[in-house]
Amino acid sequence: MSAELVQAAYIVAALFFIMSLAGLSKQDTARAGNWYGITGMTIALVATIFGPETSGLTWIILAMVIGAAIGIFYAKRVEMTEMPELVAILHSFVGLAAVFVGYNSFLPQWTCDNVKTLADVAELTRAQIQVCEVLHDQPHAEHVIHMVEVFLGVFIGAVTFTGSIVAFAKLRGLVSSSPLNVPHKHKLNLLALVTSFALMVYFVKADGALWPLIVMTLIAFVFGYHLVASIGGADMPVVVSMLNSYSGWAAAAAGFMLSNDLLIVTGALVGSSGAILSYIMCKAMNRSFISVIAGGFGTDGSSSSSDEDYGEHREISAEEVAEMLKDSSSVVITPGYGMAVAQAQYPVYEITEKLRALGVEVRFGIHPVAGRLPGHMNVLLAEAKVPYDIVLEMDEINDDLSQTDTVLVIGANDTVNPSAMEDPHSPIAGMPVLEVWNARNVIVFKRSMNAGYAGVQNPLFFKENTQMLFGDAKESCLKILEHI
Ligand code: NDP
Repeated sequence: MSAELVQAAYIVAALFFIMSLAGLSKQDTARAGNWYGITGMTIALVATIFGPETSGLTWIILAMVIGAAIGIFYAKRVEMTEMPELVAILHSFVGLAAVFVGYNSFLPQWTCDNVKTLADVAELTRAQIQVCEVLHDQPHAEHVIHMVEVFLGVFIGAVTFTGSIVAFAKLRGLVSSSPLNVPHKHKLNLLALVTSFALMVYFVKADGALWPLIVMTLIAFVFGYHLVASIGGADMPVVVSMLNSYSGWAAAAAGFMLSNDLLIVTGALVGSSGAILSYIMCKAMNRSFISVIAGGFGTDGSSSSSDEDYGEHREISAEEVAEMLKDSSSVVITPGYGMAVAQAQYPVYEITEKLRALGVEVRFGIHPVAGRLPGHMNVLLAEAKVPYDIVLEMDEINDDLSQTDTVLVIGANDTVNPSAMEDPHSPIAGMPVLEVWNARNVIVFKRSMNAGYAGVQNPLFFKENTQMLFGDAKESCLKILEHI
């Protein structure tokens, strides 16, 4: 494939990626958006693999076969609720790849800069001598730019790598979701940044010094770990989208190092769309975007309301819930992570249809961070064929909750927790929530009195108008269906 054809293919692939992002931004075009992405990536891969600059085809194909086999194996097994962990670990691979690309693109420079004597020259291969000649003739400005690219690429990649691994461990429950509170954490973060900057200046000026790159890589690994470990459970959605953005910038940096235009464009698309998503999530969760970027957000862990005594809770049976629903004229369903775990969306849809057939107005209220992925609940409800027009955002439904007869909280917890509004010391303080307690009756579907993802007890469960329906959400919904 000629270089011109490869460039043309790259442009077409980039257009497909843009169409993919546009498609993915709306539910009814999301499936097409996915296909645009797949098509763009196929074009990009074919053009790269068969392009004039690619050698070692056998190795590439071998790596692709192994990678694809692992990918297909995991993609088939992964549950929808495990998607955020999968996304986090994939981000870590992008970060690690950027680190490797950075070192790989610096090593020729390092080899050439360390040729001091004739004996050193004698040890070089013919190809290495040619590379050294090209590098020797490189204009100074170009050389400086390349060194900065290498340094920044490795830095962003290393931060993304360890940050994503911590995010993976937190989301998978391998480590506690509560924030790590190292004393003077913001000062330490600043120190890491300032030291890395000083190392970059040295690295660019002192030709052929590998140690500043290695020291910075170690600092960046610790920095990435610390940034994400300092963030509490409830703020994880923002972290996941932020790491998504970082992985895009890491890919763009790798594109600069490899002089690959498509990687630059694709990385920038992922980086900027991730940053926009983070901004939207920050707004939804009432967090400061700037402090997110600086890693200076999350809770100080000073207080948690989990030990407070809220009194007694009341229980209700599925049969009684069915009666209550039939007597209601308006019902709002607020699903959360537990609905995804139980896969209760299908019986929830059937309940919705039965009630609508009885003339009950049924709507859904979706919190922006319900579940474990942005848009998680929308995807589940779309899967169960719930009509889009009865699925409303939190801001659209909150004012109507006070005129609602019954709210069904299906496997949601943090997203309906009043302490976010009432307790300024709560780890979720300031996060807007679905104000379900304003409805006449609230039924909470869950298996126990356990806390939600943020580890905070929920005073909603003890309110006078709230009743608990204990058990797996899907089984509870099926029992209710029997009685409607
Ligand atoms: P939570 O994670 O706060 O709570 C889920 C509840 O579901 C639990 O209290 C659990 O209680 C219950 N549950 C679990 N399994 C079942 C089951 N089979 N049947 C019935 N109930 C079940 O849910 P929310 O959706 O309200 O909040 C999401 C949380 O996740 C927020 O803190 C958010 O910040 C965080 N997060 C969100 C991300 C996103 O992008 N959306 C990403 C990362 C984190 P019990 O065990 O008693 O059954």
